Amino acid sequence: MIIGAMNSPKRGVVEEIALFGEMGFDFVEITLEPPAALPERVIANRKAIVDVLHSYNFGVLAHCPWYFSVAHPYERVQKAIVEEFKRAFEAAAALGAKKVTAHTEWMPPGIQERAVMVARTIETVGKLRGFAAELGLELLVENAWASSFSIREFKRLFSEVDVGLTLDVGHASTADGEGVENYLREFRRRIGHVHLHDNDGKRDQHLPLGAGKADIGSAIRALKAQYDGTITLEIHSEDRDYLRLSKDKLEIAWFGKRQHEKNKEYAGGRG
Ligand SMILES: [Zn+2]
Repeated sequence: MIIGAMNSPKRGVVEEIALFGEMGFDFVEITLEPPAALPERVIANRKAIVDVLHSYNFGVLAHCPWYFSVAHPYERVQKAIVEEFKRAFEAAAALGAKKVTAHTEWMPPGIQERAVMVARTIETVGKLRGFAAELGLELLVENAWASSFSIREFKRLFSEVDVGLTLDVGHASTADGEGVENYLREFRRRIGHVHLHDNDGKRDQHLPLGAGKADIGSAIRALKAQYDGTITLEIHSEDRDYLRLSKDKLEIAWFGKRQHEKNKEYAGGRG
Protein backbone atom coordinates (compact mmCIF):
# COMPACT_ATOMS: atom_id res chain seq x y z
CA MET A 1 0.00 0.00 0.00
CA ILE A 2 1.36 3.43 -0.86
CA ILE A 3 -0.08 6.80 0.15
CA GLY A 4 -0.62 9.87 -1.99
CA ALA A 5 -2.21 13.30 -1.73
CA MET A 6 -4.30 15.41 -4.09
CA ASN A 7 -3.33 18.93 -5.13
CA SER A 8 -5.60 21.85 -4.44
CA PRO A 9 -6.23 23.32 -7.91
CA LYS A 10 -6.10 26.77 -6.33
CA ARG A 11 -2.39 26.32 -5.63
CA GLY A 12 0.59 25.88 -7.94
CA VAL A 13 1.09 22.24 -9.02
CA VAL A 14 4.89 22.31 -8.54
CA GLU A 15 4.54 23.79 -5.04
CA GLU A 16 1.91 21.23 -4.11
CA ILE A 17 4.08 18.30 -5.21
CA ALA A 18 7.08 19.71 -3.32
CA LEU A 19 4.93 20.06 -0.20
CA PHE A 20 3.70 16.44 -0.46
CA GLY A 21 7.27 15.30 -1.17
CA GLU A 22 8.53 16.98 2.00
CA MET A 23 5.70 15.35 3.94
CA GLY A 24 6.92 11.92 2.80
CA PHE A 25 4.05 10.94 0.48
CA ASP A 26 4.71 8.41 -2.31
CA PHE A 27 2.68 9.91 -5.14
CA VAL A 28 0.47 12.78 -6.18
CA GLU A 29 -3.00 12.42 -7.63
CA ILE A 30 -3.31 15.46 -9.86
CA THR A 31 -6.81 16.76 -10.20
CA LEU A 32 -6.81 18.54 -13.54
CA GLU A 33 -8.94 21.54 -12.65
CA PRO A 34 -8.80 25.30 -13.04
CA PRO A 35 -7.28 27.60 -12.23
CA ALA A 36 -3.80 26.24 -11.50
CA ALA A 37 -4.16 22.68 -12.81
CA LEU A 38 -6.11 23.33 -16.01
CA PRO A 39 -4.84 20.77 -18.57
CA GLU A 40 -3.49 23.52 -20.85
CA ARG A 41 -1.50 25.00 -17.96
CA VAL A 42 -0.22 21.59 -16.88
CA ILE A 43 0.96 20.81 -20.42
CA ALA A 44 2.64 24.23 -20.76
CA ASN A 45 4.34 23.66 -17.40
CA ARG A 46 5.16 20.02 -18.06
CA LYS A 47 8.93 20.19 -17.66
CA ALA A 48 8.85 21.85 -14.24
CA ILE A 49 6.18 19.43 -13.01
CA VAL A 50 8.03 16.33 -14.27
CA ASP A 51 11.27 17.64 -12.71
CA VAL A 52 9.71 18.01 -9.27
CA LEU A 53 8.05 14.57 -9.63
CA HIS A 54 11.47 13.06 -10.37
CA SER A 55 13.20 14.90 -7.55
CA TYR A 56 10.89 13.20 -5.05
CA ASN A 57 10.78 9.92 -6.97
CA PHE A 58 7.02 10.43 -7.12
CA GLY A 59 4.37 8.44 -8.88
CA VAL A 60 1.46 10.24 -10.50
CA LEU A 61 -2.23 9.46 -10.92
CA ALA A 62 -4.76 11.74 -12.59
CA HIS A 63 -8.26 12.84 -11.66
CA CYS A 64 -10.85 14.67 -13.77
CA PRO A 65 -13.10 17.40 -12.32
CA TRP A 66 -15.97 15.82 -10.36
CA TYR A 67 -18.35 18.24 -12.06
CA PHE A 68 -17.66 16.87 -15.57
CA SER A 69 -20.98 15.26 -16.45
CA VAL A 70 -21.08 11.78 -17.94
CA ALA A 71 -24.88 11.75 -18.45
CA HIS A 72 -25.71 15.32 -19.40
CA PRO A 73 -29.27 15.61 -20.78
CA TYR A 74 -28.07 17.87 -23.63
CA GLU A 75 -26.17 15.90 -26.22
CA ARG A 76 -24.12 18.84 -27.52
CA VAL A 77 -23.11 19.82 -24.00
CA GLN A 78 -22.05 16.23 -23.28
CA LYS A 79 -20.00 16.24 -26.46
CA ALA A 80 -18.18 19.38 -25.36
CA ILE A 81 -17.52 17.86 -21.92
CA VAL A 82 -16.07 14.73 -23.58
CA GLU A 83 -13.66 17.05 -25.45
CA GLU A 84 -12.58 18.51 -22.09
CA PHE A 85 -12.13 14.99 -20.71
CA LYS A 86 -9.82 14.28 -23.65
CA ARG A 87 -7.75 17.36 -22.84
CA ALA A 88 -7.46 16.18 -19.23
CA PHE A 89 -6.36 12.73 -20.47
CA GLU A 90 -3.68 14.36 -22.64
CA ALA A 91 -2.33 16.29 -19.65
CA ALA A 92 -2.39 13.10 -17.54
CA ALA A 93 -0.43 11.19 -20.21
CA ALA A 94 2.05 14.07 -20.60
CA LEU A 95 2.95 13.71 -16.91
CA GLY A 96 3.36 9.94 -17.21
CA ALA A 97 0.16 8.91 -15.41
CA LYS A 98 -1.17 5.41 -16.08
CA LYS A 99 -4.56 5.75 -14.39
CA VAL A 100 -7.18 8.46 -14.60
CA THR A 101 -10.37 8.74 -12.54
CA ALA A 102 -13.74 10.11 -13.65
CA HIS A 103 -16.84 10.54 -11.48
CA THR A 104 -20.38 9.33 -12.01
CA GLU A 105 -23.07 11.91 -12.77
CA TRP A 106 -23.33 14.70 -10.20
CA MET A 107 -26.44 16.53 -11.42
CA PRO A 108 -29.66 15.99 -9.43
CA PRO A 109 -31.20 12.62 -10.36
CA GLY A 110 -34.68 14.16 -10.80
CA ILE A 111 -33.79 16.00 -14.00
CA GLN A 112 -34.08 12.92 -16.20
CA GLU A 113 -35.37 9.38 -16.08
CA ARG A 114 -33.10 7.01 -14.22
CA ALA A 115 -32.86 4.49 -17.06
CA VAL A 116 -31.87 7.27 -19.45
CA MET A 117 -29.23 8.57 -17.04
CA VAL A 118 -27.75 5.07 -16.61
CA ALA A 119 -27.69 4.42 -20.36
CA ARG A 120 -26.03 7.79 -21.00
CA THR A 121 -23.42 7.10 -18.31
CA ILE A 122 -22.55 3.72 -19.84
CA GLU A 123 -22.31 5.24 -23.32
CA THR A 124 -20.05 8.11 -22.20
CA VAL A 125 -17.82 5.91 -20.03
CA GLY A 126 -17.40 3.52 -22.97
CA LYS A 127 -16.21 6.40 -25.17
CA LEU A 128 -13.92 7.79 -22.47
CA ARG A 129 -12.39 4.37 -21.91
CA GLY A 130 -11.40 4.25 -25.59
CA PHE A 131 -9.90 7.75 -25.60
CA ALA A 132 -7.97 7.03 -22.41
CA ALA A 133 -6.65 3.72 -23.77
CA GLU A 134 -5.33 5.46 -26.91
CA LEU A 135 -3.08 7.49 -24.59
CA GLY A 136 -2.01 4.46 -22.56
CA LEU A 137 -4.30 5.34 -19.64
CA GLU A 138 -6.56 3.06 -17.68
CA LEU A 139 -9.92 4.68 -16.90
CA LEU A 140 -11.31 4.28 -13.38
CA VAL A 141 -14.82 5.38 -12.40
CA GLU A 142 -15.31 6.71 -8.88
CA ASN A 143 -18.34 5.99 -6.70
CA ALA A 144 -20.21 8.95 -5.26
CA TRP A 145 -23.44 7.75 -3.59
CA ALA A 146 -26.48 5.67 -4.50
CA SER A 147 -28.52 8.57 -5.89
CA SER A 148 -25.68 9.34 -8.31
CA PHE A 149 -24.95 5.74 -9.39
CA SER A 150 -25.73 2.72 -7.23
CA ILE A 151 -23.79 -0.50 -6.70
CA ARG A 152 -26.40 -2.24 -8.86
CA GLU A 153 -25.81 0.28 -11.63
CA PHE A 154 -22.04 -0.09 -11.28
CA LYS A 155 -22.49 -3.83 -11.80
CA ARG A 156 -24.25 -3.11 -15.06
CA LEU A 157 -21.59 -0.61 -16.11
CA PHE A 158 -18.81 -3.13 -15.41
CA SER A 159 -20.64 -5.86 -17.33
CA GLU A 160 -20.73 -3.61 -20.40
CA VAL A 161 -17.51 -1.57 -20.19
CA ASP A 162 -14.12 -2.81 -19.03
CA VAL A 163 -13.14 -0.04 -16.62
CA GLY A 164 -11.88 -0.12 -13.04
CA LEU A 165 -13.28 1.38 -9.84
CA THR A 166 -11.81 4.15 -7.73
CA LEU A 167 -13.33 3.25 -4.38
CA ASP A 168 -14.03 6.42 -2.41
CA VAL A 169 -14.37 5.31 1.22
CA GLY A 170 -15.68 8.70 2.37
CA HIS A 171 -18.40 8.78 -0.29
CA ALA A 172 -19.44 5.21 0.55
CA SER A 173 -19.72 6.27 4.22
CA THR A 174 -22.23 9.13 3.75
CA ALA A 175 -25.95 8.75 4.53
CA ASP A 176 -26.65 8.02 0.84
CA GLY A 177 -23.53 5.84 0.49
CA GLU A 178 -23.87 2.06 0.33
CA GLY A 179 -21.04 1.14 2.70
CA VAL A 180 -17.40 0.23 1.99
CA GLU A 181 -17.91 -3.48 2.74
CA ASN A 182 -20.57 -3.77 0.04
CA TYR A 183 -18.28 -2.25 -2.59
CA LEU A 184 -15.43 -4.51 -1.49
CA ARG A 185 -17.65 -7.58 -1.68
CA GLU A 186 -19.07 -6.79 -5.11
CA PHE A 187 -16.05 -5.36 -6.87
CA ARG A 188 -13.07 -7.23 -5.47
CA ARG A 189 -11.12 -7.31 -8.70
CA ARG A 190 -12.30 -3.96 -10.11
CA ILE A 191 -10.71 -1.72 -7.51
CA GLY A 192 -7.82 0.12 -9.14
CA HIS A 193 -7.41 2.95 -6.65
CA VAL A 194 -8.80 4.21 -3.32
CA HIS A 195 -9.74 7.63 -1.90
CA LEU A 196 -9.82 8.03 1.87
CA HIS A 197 -11.31 10.85 3.98
CA ASP A 198 -13.68 11.30 6.91
CA ASN A 199 -17.16 12.83 7.41
CA ASP A 200 -20.02 13.03 9.91
CA GLY A 201 -21.69 9.92 8.46
CA LYS A 202 -24.20 12.10 6.65
CA ARG A 203 -22.66 14.54 4.20
CA ASP A 204 -19.53 14.43 2.03
CA GLN A 205 -17.02 16.60 3.91
CA HIS A 206 -13.48 15.40 3.07
CA LEU A 207 -12.38 15.75 6.70
CA PRO A 208 -9.02 14.60 8.11
CA LEU A 209 -9.03 10.98 9.36
CA GLY A 210 -10.49 10.80 12.85
CA ALA A 211 -12.18 14.22 12.64
CA GLY A 212 -15.55 12.72 11.65
CA LYS A 213 -17.69 9.72 12.44
CA ALA A 214 -16.95 7.43 9.51
CA ASP A 215 -15.65 4.07 10.72
CA ILE A 216 -12.23 4.51 9.15
CA GLY A 217 -10.67 1.75 11.30
CA SER A 218 -13.09 -0.90 10.02
CA ALA A 219 -12.79 0.41 6.47
CA ILE A 220 -8.99 0.10 6.59
CA ARG A 221 -9.17 -3.43 8.04
CA ALA A 222 -11.64 -4.49 5.34
CA LEU A 223 -9.54 -2.87 2.62
CA LYS A 224 -6.30 -4.40 3.85
CA ALA A 225 -7.81 -7.88 3.60
CA GLN A 226 -8.07 -7.62 -0.17
CA TYR A 227 -6.28 -4.52 -1.46
CA ASP A 228 -2.64 -3.45 -1.53
CA GLY A 229 -2.44 -0.54 -3.95
CA THR A 230 -2.54 3.25 -4.03
CA ILE A 231 -4.56 5.27 -1.51
CA THR A 232 -5.03 9.02 -1.88
CA LEU A 233 -5.83 11.00 1.25
CA GLU A 234 -8.43 13.36 -0.18
CA ILE A 235 -8.44 15.80 2.74
CA HIS A 236 -9.78 19.21 1.72
CA SER A 237 -8.47 21.33 4.56
CA GLU A 238 -6.71 24.67 4.08
CA ASP A 239 -4.45 23.70 6.99
CA ARG A 240 -2.15 21.09 5.45
CA ASP A 241 -0.95 19.78 8.83
CA TYR A 242 -4.13 17.70 8.82
CA LEU A 243 -2.80 15.92 5.75
CA ARG A 244 0.37 14.93 7.58
CA LEU A 245 -1.66 13.82 10.59
CA SER A 246 -4.01 11.73 8.41
CA LYS A 247 -1.02 10.04 6.77
CA ASP A 248 0.35 9.05 10.19
CA LYS A 249 -3.06 7.70 11.20
CA LEU A 250 -3.39 5.64 8.02
CA GLU A 251 0.13 4.21 8.37
CA ILE A 252 -0.42 3.27 12.01
CA ALA A 253 -3.78 1.64 11.22
CA TRP A 254 -2.32 -0.25 8.26
CA PHE A 255 1.21 -1.20 9.33
CA GLY A 256 0.99 -0.94 13.13
CA LYS A 257 2.72 1.61 15.33
CA ARG A 258 6.14 -0.07 15.40
CA GLN A 259 6.45 -0.39 11.65
CA HIS A 260 5.24 3.19 11.30
CA GLU A 261 8.09 4.42 13.55
CA LYS A 262 10.60 2.35 11.53
CA ASN A 263 9.29 3.79 8.25
CA LYS A 264 9.77 7.27 9.65
CA GLU A 265 13.39 6.53 10.54
CA TYR A 266 13.99 5.11 7.07
CA ALA A 267 12.56 8.27 5.52
CA GLY A 268 15.16 10.26 7.48
CA GLY A 269 12.52 11.89 9.58
CA ARG A 270 10.92 13.47 6.52
CA GLY A 271 7.40 12.32 7.32
ZN1 LIG B 1 -12.81 10.94 -4.20
